[in-house]
Amino acid sequence: MSTQGGIELGERLSEKELCPEDLLAGQEAAFARDIARLHAREDEFREVPCPACGADEAAPAFEKFGFRFAACRNCGTLYMTPRPSPAVMADYYANSENYAYWAKYIFPSSEASRREKIHKPWFERVIGYCDQYDINRGTLVEIGPGFGTFAVVATESQRFERVFAVEPTPEMAQSCRDRGVQVIQKRVEDIDDELDGADVLVSFEVIEHLFDPAAFLAQCARLVRPGGLLVLSCPNGQGFDIAMLGSAALAVDAEHVNLFNPDSLSALLRRSAFEVLQVSTPGRLDAEFVREAALKGEIDLSEDAFLRRVLIDEWDRLGWPFQQFLADNGLSSHMWLAARRQPERE
Ligand SMILES: [Zn+2]
Repeated sequence: MSTQGGIELGERLSEKELCPEDLLAGQEAAFARDIARLHAREDEFREVPCPACGADEAAPAFEKFGFRFAACRNCGTLYMTPRPSPAVMADYYANSENYAYWAKYIFPSSEASRREKIHKPWFERVIGYCDQYDINRGTLVEIGPGFGTFAVVATESQRFERVFAVEPTPEMAQSCRDRGVQVIQKRVEDIDDELDGADVLVSFEVIEHLFDPAAFLAQCARLVRPGGLLVLSCPNGQGFDIAMLGSAALAVDAEHVNLFNPDSLSALLRRSAFEVLQVSTPGRLDAEFVREAALKGEIDLSEDAFLRRVLIDEWDRLGWPFQQFLADNGLSSHMWLAARRQPERE
């Protein structure tokens, strides 16, 4: 689950519609305390090879909040190393003030608009994959539902025979149940025989947070029926606003330890017994983020007449078509991947 930044697709959208700026300031303060708790356990951080391709050849990329990110020379994935151990990460999420603040203040005031502008379009996109690739609409499973907005949309639609949310955190699991969603309250790696194979497994904004994404995908491969569909969304480390803003990009975050790109995530999926069907970058916020950074003086576009024209001088005319161009050509910082579980090999 992600509470930082907006992850959207579909119609035009502005982050301010979803989250008023005074609330964002309160969240920032909570987040700063979370980061301090992480740094207090730095002796438990671990160096890791590239989480996508396993190569140990990386160049330093940048630092953010005191965490170091490297760029894999083999596949271009940006990743945090050293990174908090699985135990430190588990403690971080269980005791996060940022998530508590988000749950108390931001989620209630923005859920209705998130549901309409984000989760309903997400659900339609999943249905679109099912139709396009002839996927059975038996069991849909969401891993990492957070407070359950997508799972509610999926459940209420009645377009799948069964919908389950996999959520180990008690408050979030309860929030899902309160909204009528069936919950398996376990960590995904602990699921055994609760599921008789998912036809569709979705996981939005989760894989970038994980210490070991390959292990996560191996478990996904066990949970999805052969021929079934896996749908992931996450940041694209090669997208426009990350390329322009580097560590100042919102997607570069203390929690986002893996910033894959379309090719590196596809390769990882193929090694995890999935056939990649489609990768797209339907983000809607790159141009706006870079424009705001320029307006605040965080980046200097004075030497870049072209981008100044698109993002500042003629923003009303060119901003949205430019964002569409990024989205249509794999250049936005938010990506979706649809993959099919390969049949069991004899
Ligand atoms: Zn790599």
